[in-house]
Amino acid sequence: MSKENLLDTPEEPPSGGSLDRTLFANAEPEPSRPNAGAYPLPYSQNSSPGFSPLLPAVPRLTVSDRSHRFRKMFYPQVTTRDWNNWRWQSRNRLKTLEDFERVLTLTGEEREALGRFRHGLPAGVTPYYASLLDPVDPNQPLRKTIVPVMGEFLRSPGEADDPLGEDGHSPVPGLVHRYPDRVLLLATSFCAAYCRYCTRSRMVGGSDAIGRSKLEAAIAYIRNTPAIRDVLISGGDPLTLDENRLDWLLGELRAIPHVEFLRIGSKVPAVVPQRITPSLIKVLRKYHPLWISLHFTHPDEITPETAEACERLADAGIPLGSQTVLLKGVNDNPDTMKRLMHNLLKIRVRPYYIYMCDPITGSSHFRTSVDAGLDIIRSLRGHTTGYAVPTLVVDAPGGGGKIPLLPNYLEGHDNGDWLLTNFEGKSYRYPDPSLKDRG
Ligand code: SF4
Repeated sequence: MSKENLLDTPEEPPSGGSLDRTLFANAEPEPSRPNAGAYPLPYSQNSSPGFSPLLPAVPRLTVSDRSHRFRKMFYPQVTTRDWNNWRWQSRNRLKTLEDFERVLTLTGEEREALGRFRHGLPAGVTPYYASLLDPVDPNQPLRKTIVPVMGEFLRSPGEADDPLGEDGHSPVPGLVHRYPDRVLLLATSFCAAYCRYCTRSRMVGGSDAIGRSKLEAAIAYIRNTPAIRDVLISGGDPLTLDENRLDWLLGELRAIPHVEFLRIGSKVPAVVPQRITPSLIKVLRKYHPLWISLHFTHPDEITPETAEACERLADAGIPLGSQTVLLKGVNDNPDTMKRLMHNLLKIRVRPYYIYMCDPITGSSHFRTSVDAGLDIIRSLRGHTTGYAVPTLVVDAPGGGGKIPLLPNYLEGHDNGDWLLTNFEGKSYRYPDPSLKDRG
């Protein structure tokens, strides 16, 4: 496809009606499911990935029990083939009060927030991700992250629409240049699901499409700035772009000699794992070294479908790291975070960052204390595998960049020794010859 044709394609990806024939060429008819039972399932906070595909004849198209029952109840006419088509998932996102009301028993507050929404971050969730929501409990962690409540309409002290000052560090539209050697390229404003705590809620889901001219200007800036060695492609969610557009974008960036390293930030494997198709993998694996940072919030997102999506990415040689926003009443306790980190390692994703929630407008109901974050790190460091311990950071308001937050393991020094505290609170001394010189 020529660049012109490619970039003239609509911004919103799920417009095509055709099935991914590569992926579904071997799809089987619907299997019978004697144990399927009726939705809703008992919701298990302790559920761990089952890794048991219910379609043994088509092992590449995992559908969990939970998704299957949800589909049978709310989308009885929809085939497994369509359910596993990411375009179908995107086209049929729940967006309106009526959509949500069909699958969830809404509280008055949720209903009011969904009905009131007219501007700002839209509501949106794929049917797949909706199948993970508790139909009756408004306090279920995943449901709190995706269903709007009235707290979104309150502006508390210290909150801002652009708390990180990204717009002030944007030399061209769609590009943030905050650190000397790397940039953030906002490749789309579309997401398969809209997280209610999104740092870029001022721009994602809006009608301000990031099209041909913006992307070309951003690429030209990178090409003309030799100090840039690392490009993070984000948005919106870049993995919702179609293969042709992604192929073009990655190809243009990879062709710039001083760009050593490409990264993509995405929540797709959590919200629409069906998107990780062989044809997408074929595109991605052309552009190594390519790393992907995956956004996960809670262990209940680690389903058989998501495990399979991550396995496909990892098998393509793409290193996977996780990013998690610390959210009140969602994941702000050590047990939940430990389960999330352990489950991520099991699906070959290395826990990377836990972020303090950015003070975006209407986020006070999500934000929790720095102490809660430090308690989580204290509960992990030394108590579990080192790979399962991410770095807790605060992204400094105003554009100061990420600042790591660490429990204090260094007590001071005495007589040539550092005084240290280990994970059990026991004291140790470490001799350091340079301390003698300090007196
Ligand atoms: S997937 Fe990322 S960009 Fe999209 S709404 Fe969620 S946090 Fe924002």
